[in-house]
Amino acid sequence: MKALTWHGTHDVRVDNVPDPELQDARDAIIRVTATAICGSDLHLYNGLMAGMQSGDVLGHEFMGEVVETGSAVSNLKKGDRVVVPFTIACGDCFFCNSRLYSLCDNSNPNAEDAAAVMGHSPSALFGYSHLLGGIPGGQAEYVRVPYADVGPLKVESDFSDEQLLFLSDIYPTGYMAADNADISPGDTVAVWGCGPVGQFSIRSAWMLGAGRVIAIDRVPERLKMAEEKSGAEVINFEQENVYERLLEMTKGYGPDGCIDAVGAEAHGQGDPEAERRSPDSGEANHPLALNEMIMSCRKGGHLSLPGVYTDKVDGFAIQALMNKSLAVKSGQTHMHAYMPALLRTIEQDLIDPSYIITHRHKLSDAAKAYEHFNAKQDGCIKVVMTP
Ligand code: NAD
Ligand code: ZN
Repeated sequence: MKALTWHGTHDVRVDNVPDPELQDARDAIIRVTATAICGSDLHLYNGLMAGMQSGDVLGHEFMGEVVETGSAVSNLKKGDRVVVPFTIACGDCFFCNSRLYSLCDNSNPNAEDAAAVMGHSPSALFGYSHLLGGIPGGQAEYVRVPYADVGPLKVESDFSDEQLLFLSDIYPTGYMAADNADISPGDTVAVWGCGPVGQFSIRSAWMLGAGRVIAIDRVPERLKMAEEKSGAEVINFEQENVYERLLEMTKGYGPDGCIDAVGAEAHGQGDPEAERRSPDSGEANHPLALNEMIMSCRKGGHLSLPGVYTDKVDGFAIQALMNKSLAVKSGQTHMHAYMPALLRTIEQDLIDPSYIITHRHKLSDAAKAYEHFNAKQDGCIKVVMTP
């Protein structure tokens, strides 16, 4: 089959690879009908994540049709249409039973290696580093889904792939990001990053009762989408001092909730503007957006970090975090806990997530699609590919 494979920094190729096969009674094989590129894929594309191997099949946002099931998979049958969560969970460990599915203790076959390298062992994700399981991803014609008796969400309504696909990651991720900001009715919520995760964080903040949402980025098309499609007030961080502007907009209090939908990119590494912008500048490699959040958040407020970090960061404003009594919540999304309810919001016409799609490609053009999405060029906000 054809699949998008990683060969090094900025080197991804559509290659012929062996078709996936059932390896366990709880596996299923899915024929992929739609797949997307995520900001998390960019950390791999930009060479920020350890544990990648040449030839790895990428992709963790996908949906499709069941073609084969293992003997223990009784909830699915051939022909079923499913959206697959990007996090892999066994469904019966302590963490899965606590509905903290992205912390599953059993999904990562390389947990011991990961602990030796990272000091902790993350659960498995599709199409990610070998430290996170090395499970081949879904930017491919077919994919093997482990624990298929637990993860895939069956859809029976006739909504299009484009309307349903983002249940595989970014819609639940934006929703959990807003949930983690502990929004009280009328709160002001600020969102750093207007990529796909930021866009769904904005929508979700409104759903959860925010009175005001402020979105921060520098890409004009992304700020425009936040403003025009989701009613956010916007700050272009290349044109304004984010910290000063946020305080001015909130009578000096700062936002009640702050969401970091940027992640590793927000370290400001290699960005000459970063030093100038940070309200807590002076230290090398300072976590720019994180410190802006800490410094500007209202005392006693909430920080939510869906953004993915790929290493430690220096210069983190821990003193202010502590003195301001800020609460922090983070994590890969507990997908299985959110997907069914968010599917209902689509079926009830409360949201049509396809508004975010700006580019459509054949899987065979995936290398070009990665280049555009990474450069945030041509108004590219979200790319969907069809095998
Ligand atoms: P993206 O790269 O498309 O968007 C990031 C946006 O942040 C860009 O528009 C960029 O211009 C903006 N940005 C960069 N530096 C900034 C700064 N200092 N201040 C404000 N904005 C800044 O990525 P995405 O797909 O939206 O994903 C965002 C983050 O969420 C990534 O780190 C990704 O890995 C992570 N993610 C996490 C989960 C999870 O489960 N927690 C799931 C999916 C994605
Ligand atoms: Zn993703």
